[in-house]
Amino acid sequence: MISVEDALNRILDFIEVLETEEKPLLDCLGQVLAEDVCAPFDVPPQDNSAMDGYAVQAESIAGASPEHPTILRVIGEAAAGHISQLRLEPGTAVRIMTGASLPRGADTVVPFEDTDEVDPNRVSAMGSEIAIRVSLARGSNVRRKGEDMARGELVVECGRLLRPAEIGALATLGKPKARVIRRPVVGILATGDEVLEIDQPLLPGKIYNSNSYSLAAQAIACGGIPKLFGVAPDNREQLSQAVRCGLDCDMLITSGGVSLGDYDVVKQVLAAEGDVSFWTVRIKPGKPLAFGTFRRGDGKRIPHLGLPGNPVSSMVTFEVFARPAIFKMMGRTDLARPTVRAIMEDAVKNRDGRRVFARVVVSQRGDTYYARVTGAQGSGILTSMVKANGLAIIPEAAEEVKPGEPVEVVMLNWGNVQY
Ligand code: AMP
Ligand code: MG
Repeated sequence: MISVEDALNRILDFIEVLETEEKPLLDCLGQVLAEDVCAPFDVPPQDNSAMDGYAVQAESIAGASPEHPTILRVIGEAAAGHISQLRLEPGTAVRIMTGASLPRGADTVVPFEDTDEVDPNRVSAMGSEIAIRVSLARGSNVRRKGEDMARGELVVECGRLLRPAEIGALATLGKPKARVIRRPVVGILATGDEVLEIDQPLLPGKIYNSNSYSLAAQAIACGGIPKLFGVAPDNREQLSQAVRCGLDCDMLITSGGVSLGDYDVVKQVLAAEGDVSFWTVRIKPGKPLAFGTFRRGDGKRIPHLGLPGNPVSSMVTFEVFARPAIFKMMGRTDLARPTVRAIMEDAVKNRDGRRVFARVVVSQRGDTYYARVTGAQGSGILTSMVKANGLAIIPEAAEEVKPGEPVEVVMLNWGNVQY
């Protein structure tokens, strides 16, 4: 038996980061930037007002107070979207709107609240006077040219995950497209004579193919593009054929046919068609696991992850082994999910020295997280996953975790962050 880390490292060693693609900015959300993006100009491009108010020279209002306001002559207005032609002299002010470029000569903005302009929406203050009731430090309420992004500055570096903030930053720089690492196409093939497609009538002795759907959904959730190749029966010819079709992808995931007592043909086919190792991994659920590569017609080697057929085992092994592999292909370096420390409220036994991923519900009471097991933990009990928001890690060496003992929990959902 090999350890979880060993298995994961062997898989990751083989996985390579995919090529890049250039596409419309918004389509890049959730992908990793494959270029350095520098600012071609200053942001903001000019000094501009952070408030609705009056642009002034700080010196003109030195000593102004509510009791002794300074009266300035208003020489015009500056609105957002225009470069003002006005030039401010000492003792004058320009009525200015938020975002408007500062007129030449102005260095400070006095908000309406600190003037005697009662209604900021009144038609125009042109030609009038304004009483300023505060003195302000030079530069107050002014957004400086280049204060957010200076021309030439590296704003979002190669390798960064594009979240909404980065998408906005690239838009600020007028970039309609970005170069990102492409998403992997993840082929998904179920195996088993007993497994039926979900749009077929249910027949005696058969079960529906849930694995392809849970695995495809997991692939989507971590950024991949699933491609379903249906169900291959446990016979050599058809399975070989299905595997060959399934190589039209960046990674092939199969479910079933890798357990020890299984109908051997699946292993034979995998071994004959590719360079596949079968491992028993010190993990529960999901002990039997296959990993290898298939050489495609075009010479490319496609990684294959053979997950166990039991629905919980296939989901948990996807989580532990396939998700980091997909992340790596996408250029991500943050491969692990966040974990929390929680107090177990139920006992979990661990008799055979494997790392148990117990399905739990984590809740917070006060400052402490608590984890409750989601009922029966059999590897066929998919509802144990349905009810869970986390996987509690019971270490290999722990024969039992008793109620009240702390555990580390991998969070599958967190607050309103689903999957
Ligand atoms: P296997 O790993 O092929 O021995 O499969 C173990 C068990 O997992 C089978 O007995 C089925 O009950 C279940 N199983 C296998 N494949 C699927 C599938 N695609 N969808 C749902 N359950 C499956
Ligand atoms: Mg099977």
